[in-house]
This record gives sequence, structure tokens and C-alpha cells, in this order.
Amino acid sequence: MRQCLVSDLGGYYTAETAGRDQFGQKGDFVTSPEISQTFGELVGLWVVAEWMAQGKKREGVYLMEVGPGRGTLMDDILRTIRNFKDFSSSIEAVYLVEASQGLRQAQHKLLCGDNPLKETESGHESYSKYAKDLKIVWCEDVRLLPKEGNKTPFIVAHEFFDALPIHIFQSVPPAAAEQIQTPTGPIDAKKLPRSSRENQWRELVVSPTPPFATHSDLGTPKNMQSGPVPDFQLTLSKAATPHSMYLPEQSDRYKAIKSTDHALIEVSPESHAYAADFAVRIGGGQLPTARHQQSRPNTHTVSAPSEQDVVEKSQPSGAALIMDYGPASTIPANSLRGIKRHEHVSPLSEAGTVDISADVDFLGLAESAINASLGVEVHGPIDQARFLTAMGIQERAAQLVKQALDKERGGKKDDNSERKKEDLTETVKRIETGWKRLVDRGPQGMGKLYQFMAIVPHRPVKQGEQMRRPVAFGGDIAVS
Ligand code: SAH
Repeated sequence: MRQCLVSDLGGYYTAETAGRDQFGQKGDFVTSPEISQTFGELVGLWVVAEWMAQGKKREGVYLMEVGPGRGTLMDDILRTIRNFKDFSSSIEAVYLVEASQGLRQAQHKLLCGDNPLKETESGHESYSKYAKDLKIVWCEDVRLLPKEGNKTPFIVAHEFFDALPIHIFQSVPPAAAEQIQTPTGPIDAKKLPRSSRENQWRELVVSPTPPFATHSDLGTPKNMQSGPVPDFQLTLSKAATPHSMYLPEQSDRYKAIKSTDHALIEVSPESHAYAADFAVRIGGGQLPTARHQQSRPNTHTVSAPSEQDVVEKSQPSGAALIMDYGPASTIPANSLRGIKRHEHVSPLSEAGTVDISADVDFLGLAESAINASLGVEVHGPIDQARFLTAMGIQERAAQLVKQALDKERGGKKDDNSERKKEDLTETVKRIETGWKRLVDRGPQGMGKLYQFMAIVPHRPVKQGEQMRRPVAFGGDIAVS
């Protein structure tokens, strides 16, 4: 999955194919920030509200985004926060984590205009088109970005976690598990006493499909059979793999379903490492280095100095907002998917030209964040419709419609405010259909499928006090 998406040798995001654009109607998929500017504006407002609630730090604040795509979300955030001078002047730098050179260039163009892009030791940097002294820094890996205890990070991740690689495991009943792997070598499962003949986790591994295989041989789902026969297939490993021996043992959530025969789980260690990284930036603490090393085997990892993984904070500060699709509390299963030109295709065909993603395990991310830092708490996930509605999407859209109409009438305020729908211009239609699509609560609607989860500083609650909740997560604007 990692190689298919971000390999230097023709990854979906990283291949240098001139003029290729993954996003938008002509590309493969459309994301919320690309549908309506209100999305990024409201995320920007959420960040401002959180900054206010945390006592309006006047310095050391930074913005960070992982997987910024075309850069639209960050551009909308930066434009919005210009209306909050105290906040925007407290921002020291903007950090972007992006594996793709092509997308980095697109982000640079959008966010920096003509300001030159300079290569640095750890990546690239330039300056914002909105403020000449606001540095924008790019890195390919979050571990290359400085982690300092006296800083206040505001981190956003939209449709990033779903692109991080997963491992798939299946719980196999003992009869099917002929051999049990132990540190001293394999033993025959049938010879073991009944009590120790528990289900075992086995990994689904990727292997090439046999020559001349057909869709029906491979059991390709019907709705994906119009595409080419997949080059790869998932097969159940006959014995334990290094990953199956430790990853599904990492959480009680996985252990709880181990006894369910043939249960499937998807585990994304790299996602857990990112959530832990965010938590440590916000709440302080130490990242378990071993987990990092294990999280990305066989990849071109960059080894970060270990002192980078320790963050001492006098007081937790900042926040992370994770926006993605996936179940709110259950462990994802059967969610690996391929997308091409807005259609579902097999994730195991046409490697490098198909977008591959999987559901995000929100509760798993919350668990990683909390385990990584004593200084954080997690709110949500809540669905996108609820978040955006609470943040005022309808009101903001109405404002944009009014602005568009005023503009159309040459800036004149006229008395014909009850204009009929048929008279609405294309711009107005776009605004209206855009915001409504984002909060659509239908079964396949974006408002319901996408979830928002926030990692914020932990505030111990004194007796008789209410827990402070972030705005949109049940809380109100608060200034401390
Ligand atoms: N947030 C954007 C783009 C989502 S697509 C939007 O919502 O429109 C996923 C983004 O993550 C792309 O920018 C892709 O290049 C980046 N990405 C994917 N895997 C990555 C990885 N392992 N490391 C860094 N960036 C990655």
C-alpha cells in the first residue's frame, strides 16, 4: 500500500506524470475542501476558537498539516485567520508534511505565489503569499519536523490517515492452525492441550495472481469486474508472520475479538505513530522509539534522532483535528479499496495508478494518543454534518451567497432580496450545492461518512466543575 501510494518509483501520489491531477472532477476523487471553501474556513475558525480557549498564546504557535493535497484546506485556513489579527500574528510557521513532490509544488504555488521555494536540510521552505514573514516549511516525514516543548501546535489532517498502510489479520481457529510459531520454533498445534489451542491471528499477505486468472477465479466483487483482472491477491498466510505475532496483541480491542472465528481486523501502525506524534507535540511525553522502528519495516525510513522523541512541556497546548472516514468505534475490516475516476476498483490492480485507501480506526487513534501522552484528552469522533453545522456552515454559506449576489448587482444593495431560485447564478448554485453536499446525512452522504476527532490538552476537572469541551464537540466559545 505504501509503495503503491508514495514510492519514488511511480507511486500514485509521487509519480512524475506531467499534468496528472488526482483531485477534482477530471481526477479520481473529490475531497471536502475542494468542494466548498466553507470547509477550510470553518476548520480555521475552530483552530482560532481553540487558541482562544487556551489563553491566546502570543508566540510559539505553529500550524501543521499532514497530507495537504492541493493545499486548498491550508489556503482557506490562512485566508480566514487573517480576520483574527492577534491569532495570525502569533503564528511562527506553517509546517506541511507531504510525500509527493508534484503536490508540494502545487501547494507552494497556491500558498506562496511567486515567493521562491528553497531546498533545506530537512525539506523545503518558502513564505506565505498572505504574510511576507510567515514561513511555510515542507517535510516528507513528520519526524523531521522540530518538536519543542515551548511551542503550541495546531495540527490538521484531512483524508491523510486513510492513505496510510494497513495490515490485515484474521482470527483462525486452532484446527486450521497446523503450526504455532513460538520463540523457540514451531510446534504442532494438535499436540497442545485444549486450553492452549486458542485462535491465532494470521496475516493476509499480498501475492501475485496466477497467470491467466479471471475475475471469477479471484472472486473479484461484481461492481469491480469492469476493470482489469487484479495483478495481486490477498492470501491468508499459512504461518504466523512477524506482524501477526505482535500487532494484534497491542490492544485489548483486538484481543476481545480474537476468539471470534474468522474475524478480520485492519491495523495501521503508521497511523498510530502519527496519532502518538500529535499527542506528544500537544501534551508532552516520549514516543516509544521501538514502535516507530517496527511501524515501517522494509521502507525508506528516515531515522530521527531519539532526543526528538522526547518533548517536555511546562503546560500542554495546541490541538489536532483528524478528519477522515471510518467507523466511530469499531475496528475497521474489509475496507481496503481502490478508487479510480470516481469509481470503486480493485485496490490490487494497476498498482500506482489507482488510489488505495482504508477506513480509519478512530478509537485506535484515540488510544494511541492517550497512551503516548498524559497531557492530552480526545473528543469525538462526531460526524462531519454535526461539526460543520455547529461551526455555522449554513450561516457562512448564506453570507457567501449574499456576497455573490451583491457582486452580481454591481455591489448595489437592492430591494429584490426575495429572488427566486431560478435566477441564481452559477456561483450561487455552486455554493449551495457545495455546502449541502458536505453535510448530507444520507446513507452515502459526506456528512455522515466523515468523522471529526480532536486531540486537545488535558484539563483536570475540579470537583463540581464541568469538563471543557472544544467548540463543536459539545462546547461553546470560551476565553480563558
Ligand atoms: N488533505 C487533502 C489531500 C488528501 S489525499 C484533501 O483533503 O484534499 C492524501 C494526501 O496525503 C496527499 O497530499 C498525499 O500526497 C499525502 N500522503 C499520502 N501518504 C503519505 C505519506 N505516507 N506521507 C506523507 N504524505 C502522504
